[in-house]
Amino acid sequence: MQQVHAFPTFSGPLATVSAYASGYRENKCNLHPTASPKALRDAFGGPLPAKGQPGDEVIAELIGAAEPGLVGNTQPGFHAWVMGGSNTTGVAADWLTSIWGQNAGIYQASPAAATAEEVACGWLLDVLDLPRKASVGLTTGATMAGFIGLAAARGEVLRRAGYDIAETGLQFAPPVQVYLSEDTHVSNRAALRFLGFGNRNIIEIPADDQGRMDVAALAEKMEMSSAPKIVVATAGHINSGAYDDFPSLARLAKKHGAWLHVDAAFGLWARASVTTKSMTHGIENADSWSTDGHKWLQMPFDAGFAIVRDQDAHRRAMDITASYLSEAPDDGRNATQFNPELSRRARGFAAWATFKSLGRDGIADMVHNHCACASLLAHKLRRLPGVRILNDVVLNQLVVVFDPGKGQPAADHATQSMEEALNADGLHFFRTAMWHGRKVLRISIINPGTGPKHISELAEKIEKLWCGARA
Ligand SMILES: *Cc1c(COP(=O)(O)O)cnc(C)c1O
Repeated sequence: MQQVHAFPTFSGPLATVSAYASGYRENKCNLHPTASPKALRDAFGGPLPAKGQPGDEVIAELIGAAEPGLVGNTQPGFHAWVMGGSNTTGVAADWLTSIWGQNAGIYQASPAAATAEEVACGWLLDVLDLPRKASVGLTTGATMAGFIGLAAARGEVLRRAGYDIAETGLQFAPPVQVYLSEDTHVSNRAALRFLGFGNRNIIEIPADDQGRMDVAALAEKMEMSSAPKIVVATAGHINSGAYDDFPSLARLAKKHGAWLHVDAAFGLWARASVTTKSMTHGIENADSWSTDGHKWLQMPFDAGFAIVRDQDAHRRAMDITASYLSEAPDDGRNATQFNPELSRRARGFAAWATFKSLGRDGIADMVHNHCACASLLAHKLRRLPGVRILNDVVLNQLVVVFDPGKGQPAADHATQSMEEALNADGLHFFRTAMWHGRKVLRISIINPGTGPKHISELAEKIEKLWCGARA
C-alpha cells in the first residue's frame, strides 16, 4: 500500500512534513518494510553532497528513502513486540519540543520544559499510585530507567555498608550481590553491566513456567550471603505478562536491608485500571521502578521513567553539578539531578501532552481494553485443536504454540510457518521467539487502535490458516 505524496514546493520543510504527517497517520501504512537492506542503502546512500539542498527537497527525499523501510508499529495489526503507537497529540508536542529547540538539562535553560516535566512526573506517580514523594527521571526508555534505578541501588546499599561509591568506586568497595530471575529481561543484565556488575555479582534465581521468580529459592540464596544486596524483580514479563510476588519480595528485601528494583516496563501501567491493579499489589513497597513512556502510555519514542523512592539516593547517583549550572530558583526542577545526561531533549512536553490527551480514564480504559482483547483472543484460540497458549493470560500478552501433535520439532516448525502465514497478507506483523526451549508466537496487544473487532478478525484468520495447514 505504497502511497503517492504531492509535495507543495513553496512551503518549506515544516509545512511539507505537516501536510504529509496527517496523511501518514490517517491512511493505512505498510506494516512490513518492503525494501531490502541493499535497496535502503542505495536510497539513503551516495556521497555527502558538497552543497546544501533546499529543505523541502531534502524532506521529500527522506520520505521517499525511508518509507519502504518503515515498520507499521503504530497500526492495530502490529503484535510482534511490546511497542506503543505514538499518540498523535504526544507526537505533535514532540514536534513543538524540536521547534522550540529547548535544552531541558537545567531549569534555567528552559523553565517551561522543567515545569512541564515536573507536572508530568507528578501525574505519573498519581496514575501509577506510587509514593508521591518519589523522584522521577525522564529517560530514553526502560533500559535507561533501569540503569538509573540500579545506580541508585548500588550507591545506597554500599552507603549502608559504610562505603561512599563516589569516593571508593566499585573497585574499592565490597562486592554487591545482585539477585535476578533467570528469565529476566535482557535489559536488566545490560544495565548491570553498564554499572560495573558482572556475572560473579549476579545470582540467578529459578523462574516458574510464567517467568516469575521463585521466592523460596531467592530467600534461601539471600540467607547465604552477608553482602550488600540488590533484588531485581519484574512486573509484566516480556513474554507472559506475569507479575512477581511483590509482597514476599518486599518482605525479603526488608529483612536483608536489600534494595528492591522492579523492571515494570509496561506492567506498571496495570495500576492505572481497577480491573488489573490488584496484580501489582505490594509493588508500591519497592525502592525503585523502571517503566516506559513509549509502550503502554503511547508516548512517542524515546520515553521512559526512572522512579526512585529515596530522592537522595537518586540524586547522589545522578547529579551533575558545576558552578555554571546554577541551582534552580524557587525549587524549580533541574533534570540533571535525575538522569545521566546534561544537555537533553525536553521530554516533559510530550509526556505532559500525552497524559492530557488520554486522561486518567483514557489510560485506564486503554489498559483494560487491551487486557480484555487478550482474554478474548485466548478464549477464541483455546477452542482450536493443537493451538496451545503457554501463558496465563493475565495482561495483554499471549504466548502461543501451534502443535500438530507430532513432537516438538514439528510444533516449532508449525509455529514458525504460522508466523509466516499470518504475516503474508501484510495486515499483521508477528514474530516468534524461543521461550523455555520452544518456538513460540508472541502476541502483544498494546496498540491504541486494537479493539475487539480486530481481535475477532485475527482469531478467524488464525483459525483459517491453522485449519488449512492441518488439512
Ligand atoms: C521493553 C522492555 C524493557 C526495555 O525497555 P526499552 O524501552 O526498550 O529500553 C525492559 N523490560 C521489559 C519487561 C520490557 O518489556
